[in-house]
Amino acid sequence: MSGACKVNWVEDAATQIGGLPRWWHPVVGCTKISAGCAHCWFLESVGPALIRRGQDPVKWSPVAHFNECEMNVPVAEHGPRSQRRAYFVGAYGDIGHENITDEQIIRIVEVMRATPRHLYFVLTKRIRRIAEIAHRISWPNNAWLGISAADQRAFDIRWGALEMTPVPHVFWSLEPLVGPIDIRGAVLPEWVIVGGESQEGARPMETDWVRAIRDKCVTTNTPFYYKQDSAYGKGRVTHKPALDGRVWDELPDFRGCVI
Ligand code: SF4
Repeated sequence: MSGACKVNWVEDAATQIGGLPRWWHPVVGCTKISAGCAHCWFLESVGPALIRRGQDPVKWSPVAHFNECEMNVPVAEHGPRSQRRAYFVGAYGDIGHENITDEQIIRIVEVMRATPRHLYFVLTKRIRRIAEIAHRISWPNNAWLGISAADQRAFDIRWGALEMTPVPHVFWSLEPLVGPIDIRGAVLPEWVIVGGESQEGARPMETDWVRAIRDKCVTTNTPFYYKQDSAYGKGRVTHKPALDGRVWDELPDFRGCVI
């Protein structure tokens, strides 16, 4: 699967920089590690569907692996007059998975550095592994590193590790939010995204959980993005639902991150 990335916050970031939203899959496949993984979008849905449709079973294997064939994708789309891209990196896996070597992670970051017209979003649940090898990696200004956390337990483990990782730009994706997360003791990143679960069997997300996170973002002037509500009880999500009378789709200013 390649082409336009349909994740709304990636689309909005791409629009801001005058670019195109794209997937980039240097890492595919994974292993569930926490409550947020219960209905993993790739393992439960997208991956099996791609293989059923006759796509390359090696490239889309559920076993976490590095995709050498993807390494030139952003480079081929990069040039002095090329349109910028906003890439969601490894949406079908986790760059910090133990099957991915340090050298492969470094190579992925170096592709980002070599393509400064593009913007990159890397989400991981394995931030402690990324933090452990931080001394070997120099993250460029066009790469945003984020943690994904679904509940307080995961958040408490991950936010501090992200905070200690020397990266120019950091963000949180609190999705699927399956329990309240008290973020008041944390140092907020540059961007906070919240969303409910969309897959079959979606777990509920209470509006007050979203509201509490939104309130902290407002008081700290942190851009807040309410991506979607939960499909629980209705079988579908509403994208960018209103909260307290308005849509919350705030973005940081990404324009200084790309040339
Ligand atoms: S870390 Fe992400 S890709 Fe890996 S199993 Fe969990 S939800 Fe799926």
